[in-house]
Amino acid sequence: MTDSAQQALTALADTRFTTYWLDSLGPIEDQPPLGEDTDCDLLVVGGGFCGLWGAIQAKQQDPARDVVLIEAKSVANGASGRPAAIMSTSVMHGIDNTERIFPDDVAELERLGQENMDGFRATIEEFGIDCDIEWGGEMKVSIGDEGLPTVDEDHALYLKYGHDAVRLDRDGVQAEIHSPIFHGATWSRQRSGTVHPGKLVRELKRVALELGVRLYENTPHLRNSKSGNGIRVETPRAGIAARKVLLATNAWAAGHAHISRRVAAIRDRIVVTEPLTEAQMQKVGWQHRQGIYDTRTQLNYMRLTADNRILFGGRLGYFYGNNTDPAHDKTPAPYVRLVQSFYRTFPQLADEIRFSHAWSGPIGLTTRMAVHYQKYHDGDMVFAGGYSGFGVTASRFGARVGLALLDRRDIPETGMQFALTVPDYIPPEPFRWIGAQITMYALDTLDEKGGWRKLWVRMVQKMGFPITL
Ligand SMILES: Cc1cc2nc3c(=O)[nH]c(=O)nc-3n(C[C@H](O)[C@H](O)[C@H](O)COP(=O)(O)OP(=O)(O)OC[C@H]3O[C@@H](n4cnc5c(N)ncnc54)[C@H](O)[C@@H]3O)c2cc1C
Repeated sequence: MTDSAQQALTALADTRFTTYWLDSLGPIEDQPPLGEDTDCDLLVVGGGFCGLWGAIQAKQQDPARDVVLIEAKSVANGASGRPAAIMSTSVMHGIDNTERIFPDDVAELERLGQENMDGFRATIEEFGIDCDIEWGGEMKVSIGDEGLPTVDEDHALYLKYGHDAVRLDRDGVQAEIHSPIFHGATWSRQRSGTVHPGKLVRELKRVALELGVRLYENTPHLRNSKSGNGIRVETPRAGIAARKVLLATNAWAAGHAHISRRVAAIRDRIVVTEPLTEAQMQKVGWQHRQGIYDTRTQLNYMRLTADNRILFGGRLGYFYGNNTDPAHDKTPAPYVRLVQSFYRTFPQLADEIRFSHAWSGPIGLTTRMAVHYQKYHDGDMVFAGGYSGFGVTASRFGARVGLALLDRRDIPETGMQFALTVPDYIPPEPFRWIGAQITMYALDTLDEKGGWRKLWVRMVQKMGFPITL
């Protein structure tokens, strides 16, 4: 074992393998499960950001609408209780990804993203939602020189679509964040930043209940069928007759066997340090407290928490059969390489930092890396999901458009390509698992070993995935 691997294991010795966001808040009481048959105008399945935003906006649009939300476990069980929670203005996983997937619609999607963030902020203020929001912006950094062309392209795109963005050279970025491996950055300074996702998701639950949503936790959707002029959904103890169903089950792809043909449950991992002392904060700078991510496919992302811990994430993994069970990542071993990346990023802290929390979370990945819609039962049941790594605020937009599709309301968004088309198929098992393992290995060893890895990565790119060499 190398010295830095041993050092990482020591730093992970007292770590709690659970999400910091919920652990630090402590448990809250679940809403009782559904115990008897019921009916409703709209059933939302899934209590993450997408489901909660769907239920809230449905009530805001029509307070008389009878809305039920069921969650298999507790609200925030999924990705929404586990992200880095860097808020992006983009609703399509970044301005560069928008240009990749919908080059003709970038201006409109960027406008919609800005409108979404303004609506997000207005809702936070209207309902007095306490969630440690910091509007420090989002910053994409180049590790070494390889990412500099991407950082330049992003900067040009940001300016083209009216963002307040600056391009920082090596000295500029290191004046912001003292990391020797950052060689340049683009910092978009408005309508983005960071949020406490645990507080946000629990506050959205409060708002949903206040607006009259009937919310049942520990109530998994088991199966559904078309029945009369609606849909019958079975849960363990009772059935629901719903006129419409919004499936917000993200990486679980629950609701229909076909959903996972286009959605893969990729796992991403995060470590969080103990709070930094004043002296340690001076060693890292970071006065503007930006949300940061780099340009690589196996990227790292990082942010500060309100009490000045560093949250540091990355290291994708895939488990056979779209497995979303977080029990797989409850030991130090899966986090060692992530901690080694932390040491490379902040060598000035390597000898003195310990990690309080480490966890993994399921990302609903599609070839487009952005929300899409799958329609079932003649369009009365819609799956909205696949936000990939950027869904904390984009899910508000995704749910709003999902509701319009269910209601067959003609709004400009429902006529756009992102709502009319679906992402490419992802191969089924066992090819999905084998392909994922080879891809992760190729990405991890590409730089040192090259060879067949580049050919493989090009093939995966041809399948529609935006991975970079
Ligand atoms: C490690 C990590 C880091 C991330 N970092 C960021 C970031 O920095 N910025 C950002 O914007 N996004 C980030 N994301 C992505 C973001 O968290 C997600 O896009 C977003 O939370 C998706 O919300 P959702 O409601 O669609 O899914 P989820 O929060 O996963 O909710 C789905 C819910 O459906 C429930 N469910 C599943 N099956 C059933 C069933 N049969 N019946 C009833 N309920 C069911 C699950 O229990 C779950 O609660 C990150 C994600 C991860 C995992």
